[in-house]
Amino acid sequence: MKLPTTPEGWAIHLSKLVRAFHDAHGSPRFPIKVADIAIEYSRNVFPDAPITKVGGIDLTRKFEGMLMPIDSGTGEWGIIYNSAITSKGRINFTLAHELGHYLLHRHRSPDGIRCSSRDMGDWRSEHGQIESQANTFASFLLMPLDDFRQQTDGQKFDMDLVRHLSDRYEVSVTAAILKWLGITSQRAMIVVSRDGFIDWTWSSERLFKSGIYYAARQQTVELPSQSLAALRVDDAAARAGIMHKKGVWKGEEDVFEMTIYSPKNEMTVTLLIYPNDGPDRFHGRREPDDVGIDDTYERFMGARLPEGRD
Ligand SMILES: [Zn+2]
Repeated sequence: MKLPTTPEGWAIHLSKLVRAFHDAHGSPRFPIKVADIAIEYSRNVFPDAPITKVGGIDLTRKFEGMLMPIDSGTGEWGIIYNSAITSKGRINFTLAHELGHYLLHRHRSPDGIRCSSRDMGDWRSEHGQIESQANTFASFLLMPLDDFRQQTDGQKFDMDLVRHLSDRYEVSVTAAILKWLGITSQRAMIVVSRDGFIDWTWSSERLFKSGIYYAARQQTVELPSQSLAALRVDDAAARAGIMHKKGVWKGEEDVFEMTIYSPKNEMTVTLLIYPNDGPDRFHGRREPDDVGIDDTYERFMGARLPEGRD
């Protein structure tokens, strides 16, 4: 059998195997058990280079995880997360990310790959490219499109649905929102902020085409003072959201804002929904160098929902 060569291809390939297995055994398909898949699949398909270790290691703070050759001369590999991470969503995503490195990059990196959120932000370097590929793989493996569409089609996309997706796939709320932004035809944006400042944002394709985004990586951008995000409170009202008149958030339109504040991570995740009939300003596809598209790893690595779920 010809094996896949792209991140999406690998994720779909493994997804089909997982689905067939669970259909045959009548067991639930989600959340995806990355550790089991990594060990079983590599043992069967790459017996000369099996993954034999999956787990947490005490890495220095700056590393999220690593793909590691096991120093035994047997060709074995380990996929590792930083044991300082306690969020199940982040651990799951990191393991999937490292499995992506194993499938896509181990031949070119025989000494392994260490993944820090800082290194992984740079799309323009070769290292940045492999980081974004590993993220794409992880996103498609943990949240396959067929099921994600079933869960979201015809549904109002609100924080209750985000919570459901985060639980179903065992991913961070940020990862679930980004997945939706990648496929939705709505005009919407995620805003991740800390200490009253916007850390990074990501707009859906249609919103980006109307020219609405923040260049938060290039300049310091304060949260709008009237926004829910600026309040930094974790309550049901903030999650349910409010409609703002134009002028609060970017763009000359009214905007619906929903916000989750995680005191543990001192991080606010905000979802902005713009009216559907906005103007399309650009017609080309966005390029990786465009503003607002960097730091993909960090955006996948956000906190899960508060309320002591992790
Ligand atoms: Zn990586």
